[in-house]
Amino acid sequence: MRIAVIGTGYVGLVTGACLAEFGMFVTCVDIDEKKIEKLKRGEIPIYEPGLDDIVAKNVKEGRLTFTTNIAEAVKNNLVVFIAVGTPSCEDGSADLRYVDQAARDIAQNLNGYKVIVNKSTVPVGTGQRVKNIIRSIAGEKVRFDVVSNPEFLREGAAVNDFLRPDRIVIGAESEEAIAIMKDVYSAHYLNEAPFVITNIETAEMIKYASNAFLALKVTFINEVANLCEYVGADVHKVAKAMGMDGRIGPKFLHPGPGYGGSCFPKDTRALSYIARSNGYTFQIVDTVIKVNEEQKLRMVDKILKLMNIEKKDGALEGFRFAILGLAFKPNTDDMRESPSITIIDELLNLGAEVNAFDPEAMANAKEFFGDKICYCKGEYEAVKETDCLVIVTEWNQFRKLDMEKIKSLMRKANLADLRNIYEPSKMKALGFNYTSVGRL
Ligand code: NAD
Repeated sequence: MRIAVIGTGYVGLVTGACLAEFGMFVTCVDIDEKKIEKLKRGEIPIYEPGLDDIVAKNVKEGRLTFTTNIAEAVKNNLVVFIAVGTPSCEDGSADLRYVDQAARDIAQNLNGYKVIVNKSTVPVGTGQRVKNIIRSIAGEKVRFDVVSNPEFLREGAAVNDFLRPDRIVIGAESEEAIAIMKDVYSAHYLNEAPFVITNIETAEMIKYASNAFLALKVTFINEVANLCEYVGADVHKVAKAMGMDGRIGPKFLHPGPGYGGSCFPKDTRALSYIARSNGYTFQIVDTVIKVNEEQKLRMVDKILKLMNIEKKDGALEGFRFAILGLAFKPNTDDMRESPSITIIDELLNLGAEVNAFDPEAMANAKEFFGDKICYCKGEYEAVKETDCLVIVTEWNQFRKLDMEKIKSLMRKANLADLRNIYEPSKMKALGFNYTSVGRL
């Protein structure tokens, strides 16, 4: 089985490397020459645990190669995955320009039957759109199938998620394409991973519905946490007991500063747009988007309240903050739509100075904040002479800090634990002025 993957980002690179691990011959393509050069030198352009080993192994064994030559990649392979980005447009719709370009590139190089597999998260109707683009360029005679195969991996656990998925969704219109996709995923098939085989539109919808539901679950527990703060309840106990109900389940019930990342924010906006453009208002999703934005800003109000400072212009002049965690979640370097961006921007707007540290996202953070903040080499350097420590991302290494040392390095012992990783009573006993999300 010979496969090309167009787009060598978080999804494309993991897909390519993992399919090679299953014995396929995979060519990963990208327009980003620097990225491909790095990969050819054996460097991994993103931080994703376990990916370096699997890439190195499969390159060495000759099953995984990298190129910028899309024409050759299309010509030499039977299955062509599209795994390019689909960021948000201004109006919330998914920007399909990279998908369209990939479709045009594929069309110009069709030299026989191909299966074109859309792995990017795309609005319902994109499969037909890709088909139309290819048909209009390649003509009526060329045989090809378009398949929707949305990806559900989580950054930070992407390799394991790809190798052991909860389900594989295939939306296709021909038996031939379905048979080839089963071949691509033959290892999963043998391992009895559940397959959902359906039409293209349903597969496209499954991805948005899944992400919107997860965003809703996170937002729901965030609102429960907010209410807990008013009524004196402990959100951890509430979430634990809720999660014991088999109909609810324990996952995604961790309160925090709001969801971020490269998927939930843009996918909820895109689903809302898809609904609107079809004459339907998806009220729950619209509310999730609004509440999540408010949750991020609410964290700044929480910090001000902790420090007993009234919110007004220049309120934080003369105060220095230590931010631990910049990536949108642990085990990734991805900063896209991270809550840390909203929180830091708002602190800066109010006149604060900011020290920041993240184990993996420092390089990406520099693209967001430039010289507006101070980049530190570690946790203890970051807290020096600060008035408040804000934990934004729950990296494991932040869970067991020497809090006495931290306190001794800080100017004032204010601690905003936005991921609830420390025990409130212990922090208070240590002398911290402490706040978290939804706990007593
Ligand atoms: P990314 O930005 O990390 O990678 C996209 C890559 O595509 C970039 O390297 C870019 O240079 C390349 N590219 C763009 N146009 C190209 C073209 N015409 N030819 C070749 N390469 C091209 O994006 P990502 O996070 O991997 O996401 C890709 C898609 O997968 C998105 O639709 C996203 O919603 C979806 N998805 C992402 C995740 C995730 O956790 N990141 C999970 C599931 C699904």
